[in-house]
Amino acid sequence: MEKKATVMKFGGTSVQDAAAFARVAEIVSGEKENSPVVVTSAMAKVTDALLQAFEWAKKGNATTAFESLQPHFERHIKVAEELLGESGRKSLQLELDYAKQELNDLLVRVSRRSLPLQMLKDAIVSYGEQLSSRLLVEVCQAKKLNARHADARRLIVTDDEYGSAAPVWDQTERLIRLELQPLIAAGEIPVLGGFIAASRGGETTTLGRGGSDYSAALVGAALQAREIQIWTDVTGVLTCDPRICPEARTLKTLSYEEAAELAYFGAKVLHPKTIQPAVDLQIPVRVCNSRQPTEQGTMILPQSQSTPRLVKSIAYKKGITILHITSARMLGAYGFMSAIFQIFERHRTVIDVVTTSEVSVSLTLDDTAALEAIIKDLERIGTVEIEPNQAVVCVVGSGLRDTSGVAAQIFAAISDINISLISHGASSVNMTFVVQENVIGEVIKRLHDEFFTN
Ligand code: ADP
Ligand code: ASP
Ligand code: MG
Repeated sequence: MEKKATVMKFGGTSVQDAAAFARVAEIVSGEKENSPVVVTSAMAKVTDALLQAFEWAKKGNATTAFESLQPHFERHIKVAEELLGESGRKSLQLELDYAKQELNDLLVRVSRRSLPLQMLKDAIVSYGEQLSSRLLVEVCQAKKLNARHADARRLIVTDDEYGSAAPVWDQTERLIRLELQPLIAAGEIPVLGGFIAASRGGETTTLGRGGSDYSAALVGAALQAREIQIWTDVTGVLTCDPRICPEARTLKTLSYEEAAELAYFGAKVLHPKTIQPAVDLQIPVRVCNSRQPTEQGTMILPQSQSTPRLVKSIAYKKGITILHITSARMLGAYGFMSAIFQIFERHRTVIDVVTTSEVSVSLTLDDTAALEAIIKDLERIGTVEIEPNQAVVCVVGSGLRDTSGVAAQIFAAISDINISLISHGASSVNMTFVVQENVIGEVIKRLHDEFFTN
């Protein structure tokens, strides 16, 4: 019987320098017998640098833009010098030379607006993963691994929503199988860049910030993998963001449902879209630490296999705007909600939390790109009030499903803090509410103390 693949995704910090690349090769080597397929992010900070370069070029400074990337090109060369032999170094240098020429050309095009900007932006930002994946192949080969580069743009087909393209599943599944299965069968280790893809027309697209997790899940689902591993800079999914609570602890297990809520409400450790492809095929997702590879990390599993616990974790998302829409016409009228939602649909804007009363609807957004136009449309229905600088807090745990005391416990812990909008999530594994952004650190710390310290 054919062996099932193991998809291993490495985030930006897991490939930030030579030492990190060496650890990755070591970790992949440890899975050699389990048919690994490797998905890598760009080296840490490279995506940000490419986006910044794009902005400079947009302002007409293509030369400054290109020069700003020089330190990052050098970081790739430094890894090659430390870890590769002569032939590996040469082939990396060749890749880098091509990349430089192409990037220079793209940045000039941006400054001259000679192609649609969103299309050029994705083309530019894709070089982070193009280069890191080429470099990782060389590093793996230098460690005697049978690694082979696979271009993600030949595997993942998307619509042409540049910047956050949506995969076309049937084609993607077929291409991944067609291209990768023969390599795996021949004992090779495919290595591809996450985050990047191509539209049906063949233009480079990207899956949205943090999208390499999503690429890994797509590859895992198409190959019906044994397991999808997300290797990052913390040991698994923790009880909350360790940057706010250094005492946060690793969760041994999480259900798909819990992980999806956490990711959606800001736990950056997983991209929100990562879980779905795994859920459909019940593929376990493991989150582990590339700096501490022997630690267990977190297993994300179907509900039945995960241990229930009252509260598992607390996530938050800053930069939220609340809209309150009030209309006397809403009293006893139908069609009101649908009219509101149609406006958001028309402006392609996602709503996170919704609460209603007899005459008003309050909702939260994190994408305010179309806010002005949305407000204009909403004002035809009722009066609109806006509260910027808010944060959503999301307390997650399948135990919340049938525990009435948790809400009381949450709100008692922060009784002196003003809360607007409360929603006991439809999935019933979460309790979500909104506070002012400037108190978020305090709120998270108190809740973490309440549920995890004692
Ligand atoms: P990568 O580059 O590996 O994709 P990310 O920076 O996207 O890594 O995600 C890992 C980071 O997510 C951690 O360093 C941590 O600060 C943050 N994070 C936020 N919430 C959580 C959580 N509940 N558990 C673990 N990490 C979290
Ligand atoms: N490099 C991309 C980003 O920084 C994708 C990823 O790392 O997942 O957003
Ligand atoms: Mg990430």
